[in-house]
Amino acid sequence: MKFTFQIPTKVYFEKNCITNHLEIFTYCGSRAAIVTGKHSAKASGALDDVTNVLKNAGIAYEVYDSVENNPSIETVEDITEKVKAFKANFIIGIGGGSPIDASKAIAVLAANEMHAADLFKNDFTKALPIVAIPITSGTGSEVTPYSVLLRKDMETKVSFGNSLTYPAYALLDPGYTVSMNDKTTVSTLIDAFTHVMEGYLAKRSTIFSTMMSLEGMKTFAECIPGLKSKKYDYNFREKAAYVSLMGGLVIAQTGVTLPHGLGYCYTYFHQIPHGIANGLFVREYLKRCETTVKEKVDVVLKLLGENSVDSFGDTLEQLIGKPPKLDQEQIEQYAKLSLLQAGSISNTPFELSEEDIARVWEKQNDHAE
Ligand code: NAP
Ligand code: FE
Repeated sequence: MKFTFQIPTKVYFEKNCITNHLEIFTYCGSRAAIVTGKHSAKASGALDDVTNVLKNAGIAYEVYDSVENNPSIETVEDITEKVKAFKANFIIGIGGGSPIDASKAIAVLAANEMHAADLFKNDFTKALPIVAIPITSGTGSEVTPYSVLLRKDMETKVSFGNSLTYPAYALLDPGYTVSMNDKTTVSTLIDAFTHVMEGYLAKRSTIFSTMMSLEGMKTFAECIPGLKSKKYDYNFREKAAYVSLMGGLVIAQTGVTLPHGLGYCYTYFHQIPHGIANGLFVREYLKRCETTVKEKVDVVLKLLGENSVDSFGDTLEQLIGKPPKLDQEQIEQYAKLSLLQAGSISNTPFELSEEDIARVWEKQNDHAE
């Protein structure tokens, strides 16, 4: 047996955890930069809870609410300038994965004299402490070191992160996810599912990550009736937040695999949300996995209560629809860009040549609208 396990983030998972744990903000610093998106932090109630706690604790703060979905390096550079001018000594990221990932980049850029493009070298040695407050149930970014940023110069998304970019604290209150609309609820939960599933099948899976993957897939299965009926009661929200947390804990150890690597093209060129983009590859992915790790795919299907990959593929199609039809030029372009995701490809539990990747993209058209 051989494994490593690292999770330096202290996690609080409870209703009202922000107001219940005022002290953690005072441990982090005296000047807070709140990094978030345009609407959701307000709509969810999380921003009000945070600012009330900061006022009570006498912590100065500024709110930067310009993080877009799939944050770009230009956005994080722009916010960093303001964070430096304010002399913030810690960052609070409130949001889905986009604001939390942006927080990690800003935490590094604000602590170092460097350009955003150099983040991807991963050789920085300082970062401001981060408090992560997830309000989607999807990325698990609150417990991972990864920050995924959009690189317009490369026409794809690229991630960075090292042990310094784990948030110091993760405050999960499933109540903040209630304001998500149907599409974001589905997309983010499918993302969380792909994390636990991909981590389970990944070459880098460990005995520890497997434990959390199994728990995550079992709990995701309990969410499927709610996803189908669109009845999102508190019990559903709590379970979804738990799957998302499991997903983050898993991929922090294992990394992601093919669906994540290829899904970026659907997001970049077709504006398909991250979770749906990954989900669209799951049917073909599991079929390919059956050729090398069939016993593991059987476990996935059993946990999901499905009797074949195609029956699960049909369940997913009912929830997220079909992939867009691509022409030959797009297939060739996406296959080429997919090769940039070398980490995800090498972690996939079957061998993939350049031609194989092009074939995966062609195969997607068999299921297209
Ligand atoms: P997101 O991009 O952060 O947010 C999607 C949309 O949902 C936004 O319009 C957002 O509004 C809205 N929203 C979020 N929470 C809401 C709430 N509680 N109520 C109402 N609306 C809400 O979505 P995400 O799927 O969580 O994050 C996706 C990003 O994370 C991608 O860039 C992906 O690549 C990355 N990712 C990171 C990791 C990691 O380990 N770091 C893992 C997987 C994916 P606002 O515009 O107002 O914010
Ligand atoms: Fe993801």
